[in-house]
Amino acid sequence: MHELSLCSAIADTVRDHTSGRRVERVNLQIGYLRQVVPDTLLFCWGFITDGTELDGSKLVVDHIPARIACRACGTRTEIERPVLVCEGCGGTDVELVSGDEFLIESIDVESNEEVH
Ligand SMILES: [Zn+2]
Repeated sequence: MHELSLCSAIADTVRDHTSGRRVERVNLQIGYLRQVVPDTLLFCWGFITDGTELDGSKLVVDHIPARIACRACGTRTEIERPVLVCEGCGGTDVELVSGDEFLIESIDVESNEEVH
């Protein structure tokens, strides 16, 4: 399962950055094109962290819409399907502006310190 391996990678990164401090929230940015199912991700996070030092921490996901920029006419298009076509001119000479994110934006540990 895609989400399971993502969660396990997130958990590893969080452990590296918090060195045993109690983690309250992990704030993630996930681009639309990553095709992550939010409910599945949260379920997997519970599964992965159960019984570990991250047990009880919360995964908070900020979803980033996918946008493309057209090289021909400069129009920026927000796309709802993974089809990369400019809505200004119909061209396909476009570059991806956002939507491919998968990053830990910040980690909230107990005592409200933030770790970046
Ligand atoms: Zn265009």
